[in-house]
Amino acid sequence: MRDVSTGDPVPTAHGVPLADRSLDPDDWQRFRELSHRALDDMIDHLQTIEGRPVWQPAPQAVRARFDRPLPRKSRDLAHVLSDFRSHIKPYVTGNTHPLFMGWVHGAGTPVGMLAEMLAAGLNANCGGRNHIGIDVERQMTRWFAEAFGFPRDASGVFVTGTSMANFLGLLIARNEALGQSVRADGLRAASAQLTAYTSSQAHGCIAQALELSGIGSRNLRLVPVDAAGAMRHDRLAAAIAEDRRQGYLPFLIVGTAGTVNTGAMDDLHVLADIAEEQNLWFHVDGAFGALVALSKRLRPLVAGIERAQSIAFDLHKWAHVPYDAGFLLVRDAEAHRRTFSNRAAYLQRAPRGLGAGEVWPCDLGPDLSRGFRALKAWFTLETFGADRIAASIERSCRVARHLERRLRKLPMFEVVAPVALNIVCFRVRGASDKMQEALVMDLQERGVAAPSLTVLDGRTTIRAAIVNHRTTTRHADLFVEHLLASVLAQLQAETG
Ligand SMILES: *Cc1c(COP(=O)(O)O)cnc(C)c1O
Repeated sequence: MRDVSTGDPVPTAHGVPLADRSLDPDDWQRFRELSHRALDDMIDHLQTIEGRPVWQPAPQAVRARFDRPLPRKSRDLAHVLSDFRSHIKPYVTGNTHPLFMGWVHGAGTPVGMLAEMLAAGLNANCGGRNHIGIDVERQMTRWFAEAFGFPRDASGVFVTGTSMANFLGLLIARNEALGQSVRADGLRAASAQLTAYTSSQAHGCIAQALELSGIGSRNLRLVPVDAAGAMRHDRLAAAIAEDRRQGYLPFLIVGTAGTVNTGAMDDLHVLADIAEEQNLWFHVDGAFGALVALSKRLRPLVAGIERAQSIAFDLHKWAHVPYDAGFLLVRDAEAHRRTFSNRAAYLQRAPRGLGAGEVWPCDLGPDLSRGFRALKAWFTLETFGADRIAASIERSCRVARHLERRLRKLPMFEVVAPVALNIVCFRVRGASDKMQEALVMDLQERGVAAPSLTVLDGRTTIRAAIVNHRTTTRHADLFVEHLLASVLAQLQAETG
């Protein structure tokens, strides 16, 4: 076939010019077979995860494959799938593996994987409009409101993660403090400089949220913590009083339910009392720790969370919904909407039809087009039930305590922070910061375990965060064996 004006050959597939074809498969039966095989492959991958290295770095030749020019021509899906199997699947982070203990990563579940595939098939845009995706997201909001003791009419929105949820929570607090005129007038019109308060152990995204909001991280007071890692409320009250004397406008307290370094919990009741007394917005960063509210046994650790104005948390960490799935829950639905509502002509609501509906998710954050994150969260909660998620959270804490006990029995190690939840911070006794680092990198590179590093009291510290629902006490024991082997190897290298 040739182009009538240029005489050039026209690209075709199955005799039809490409320009006239949709992107659907030419051969549905073949697509079906390849897809089923790919799904089986991923199910095998998850079922046999333990037999593979936790992590392996991608070789240079593999990395180079992802530095190629934009492909102009089609390729057979079978070949692309084969690339995925050989060049992508083996070289990801490793957080599905039971010996992955680095940072605070969720492990995902096979159910979540299935839900992601179904959501992609529906390809619903959950920014708004009149469709069931919006109802599923509202159902999630009501479930989380129930779990945290919020009113039934609380508002909520899925976002990428807790960093984003904290940022949105801060914007609501800012606008409620200054009045919604700040949306148009900006911060320069404010009568005084806003100040916010969080603990010195708060996640770095809180300072970043102040920067992004235009308030500035210099106006975030990092309140010292006590020996357990909780914000000192005497120092908090003093900092607020001092700022008021100086003419600042305190507006926000951010409590942490589960610090990223050690899993420490702020006393949320005390923070709520101070926020009430001082008329400040009380926001909780509960990225992973807030979910202990699902467990009857652990719930007392987050007592007072029900008094927050807003809570940011992740479904992709301790609830194991596949990445990404963060959530912002806001007590005052009207305040939430006021900060973000967007009534551009093309978003106008209709009395009926597809444009109907009062509040759309695009009124609750800056995202307009957004995927169906609620579906994988709904699948996870419907399939497992909150009690089963709670049981796996409880088990993570038991495994952490088991690991702590094992390490305390070995004079070679010192546990350097209280194990309040699921994070064990320790060092090789008497060894340099460099050696702690070398040990962690060695374990990671051997692919046997993946703890991570942090800094506590100015010293490099090894951190094992037990988040994975697949990690048992047997894995904690294996981890200790690998640790001992690595320490010996390090010592031999140093003295050898
Ligand atoms: C992980 C974490 C965050 C950041 O959440 P993301 O989902 O990675 O954006 C914030 N705060 C705490 C306490 C965390 O553990």
